[in-house]
Formats: sequence, structure tokens, C-alpha cells
Amino acid sequence: MAELKIKAMEKCDLCEKEAKIRIPYGPHRFCVEHFNTFFENRVRKNIRTNKLIKYNERVAVGVSGGKDSMVTLYLLHKIFGNRIKLEAILIDEGIKGYRDRSMQIGIDYCEQNQIPFHTVSFKSEFGIEMTDVMKKIHEDEKLGSTCSFCGVFRRHFLNMKAKAINADKLATGHNLDDEVQSIAMSLFRNDFARLARLGEDAGWRKYEEFVPRIKPLYDTPEKEIIAYAAFNGIEHYSEECCPYSWMAMRNQYRKMLNELEDSIPGSKYSILASFRNLKPLLQQHQKENASETMHCKKCGNLANAEICSVCSQLERITNVSKIVQTESKSLKKKNSLTCVETKGM
Ligand code: SF4
Ligand code: ZN
Repeated sequence: MAELKIKAMEKCDLCEKEAKIRIPYGPHRFCVEHFNTFFENRVRKNIRTNKLIKYNERVAVGVSGGKDSMVTLYLLHKIFGNRIKLEAILIDEGIKGYRDRSMQIGIDYCEQNQIPFHTVSFKSEFGIEMTDVMKKIHEDEKLGSTCSFCGVFRRHFLNMKAKAINADKLATGHNLDDEVQSIAMSLFRNDFARLARLGEDAGWRKYEEFVPRIKPLYDTPEKEIIAYAAFNGIEHYSEECCPYSWMAMRNQYRKMLNELEDSIPGSKYSILASFRNLKPLLQQHQKENASETMHCKKCGNLANAEICSVCSQLERITNVSKIVQTESKSLKKKNSLTCVETKGM
């Protein structure tokens, strides 16, 4: 998104107060109070029109301690109060100096606001953590990026814990930028099955095994989430990116889409709108062409193939030390983009 800061003294579009934020795609200029109303109304509208949450439901929020998940938790607490049973799930991937610090912010917030929380660690569940996975990738570059392991495992544990606490919904902090990046990535990879699963309520098939996932911030731009967190004093971890984020293919898409948005404000919303128009067709196509659902031969969980993605990724890590013994020296030079470099901030 283009610059959100006000350069000279300007007035809010809706009152006489000084504008504190300029939103290029509107364009709008807002004082803090009117920005908060604009921001919260968009989230309320998403929840209401897409029927994401009903009163009395148990809603688990996947909390990392970063801005997106902390704003999601804060807003669901603010909007629904005691009308829903809000709980937090924190996944410890085992990225020392990063996730331990970000998680603590989430834990502190839950304790201060009497929100029940649950933690799950890769280490205690699988006996390995992301630091170990990174070592394996150094041994064999063909394993790909850390994120392809981390994402699969994290989704698995979020669902597992949400199921264990009988959550009706599992909310994540995915924002507009994440969603548009995922749309572009699925399109460019010709992955229509994944594309059809995107949206404010992920997935078109409903399964007993999966707690329905919802994205209250899915049409909220990342930069506005940063501004909202700052204006409202919402604590979140913002010091460093994940030390492995330079490996994420997503960074290339993030950079490309931010550049497009800077030159043509509103592009991200246009991509989202096109996707929403296409979604019924995509889902119809998937329904007509979807293969039978299977159960993983190893763990028994639902799978798209004989072995589920969790078991297959675990198998790849376990097997690597049997194949390659030398550490890659070129690995780090291949892709130097980090999330900070590509956030356009
Ligand atoms: Fe995991 Fe990749 Fe995110 Fe780091 S950047 S927390 S490795 S998904
Ligand atoms: Zn499995």
C-alpha cells in the first residue's frame, strides 16, 4: 500500500480534527477516532455478512503474538465480549529468540484479560523443532524452505488443539495482503484446489475432523492493522522477522504486489474482488472434479493422497540424514528477500 502517513496538516474527512492517517485507495483521511470506527466496521461487516461467528460459539484464535493475531484477539474480545467463548491457541515452532518472545506477548495479553489459552510445541509433539528442520535443509537443499514444513505442522496443531477444546471456529489473523498473496501464488502455480479453499471462511468442504477456519481480518490491509495496533496501544511482537523468513517464496509475491499497490492504489482490493467473483465457479469446478477423500495410511487423518502432508513432511526430514551429509554453503545466497525488505514500510 502506498504511504499511510499524513505529510502536512490535513483535516479528517469526517470531522474538524487533525487527520492522523491517509488511506490512498479511498482516498480517505481520518483522525484516530474515525479511523478506528472505519477499521472496526469493516471487520464487523465481514463477520456479519459472511456469518463467521454466532453468539455462544467457542472461538479459538491462533495467536503468534504478532500484530495480526493480536489485533484479531483484541477485536473479537471487544466486539463479542462474553457473548462468545474466546480462547487462544499458541503454537511454539521452536524458533529461539523469536517465537518464544512473540508468544510471551500473547500469553501476557490472555492473562491480563482472563482469556483461556493453550500452548502446543512442535518439540513436545514431534520431537523436532524448526531449528532442527533448518539444519536438515542445510544438509539437503532439495527439502525446500522451512516455511513449507512450519506451515503444514502449525495448521495441523492449530486444528488438533481447536478440536480438543471443542471449538466451533478457529480464527486466524490472515489479512488482505496475506490473502492476495495466496491468491497470486495459487494462480501462478496452477493450484486450483488451493485457490478454491481461500476466502474469509477457508475451505468449501466441511469435515468432522476440521474445525472451520475463519479470517476476520481477511479484507483488512496489513498497514492499517499496524496503524490500528499503534493507535490503540495493542501490544504485539514487532522487533525481528522470523530468522528463516528469507526463505519464504511468499516474499517475492509480497514485493510484487506491494509495488503494484504503490503505483495503482486499490489493486489488492481489485484482486480480492475478482477472486470473490470467481470463487463460486472454482468451488463448483472442484466439487465436480474432486477426488475421493482418503485417510492417511500412517496416521489415519484426512488426506489428499495416501500419506497426509504432515506425515510426508516428517518422513522427508527423517530421511534426509540418510542421504546427504555435507552442509550447503550456497543456501543463504539464493534468496535474500526478508519480510522487512518486502513489507514496503
Ligand atoms: Fe515458520 Fe516460515 Fe513463518 Fe518462520 S517465516 S514462522 S519458518 S512459516
Ligand atoms: Zn498422516
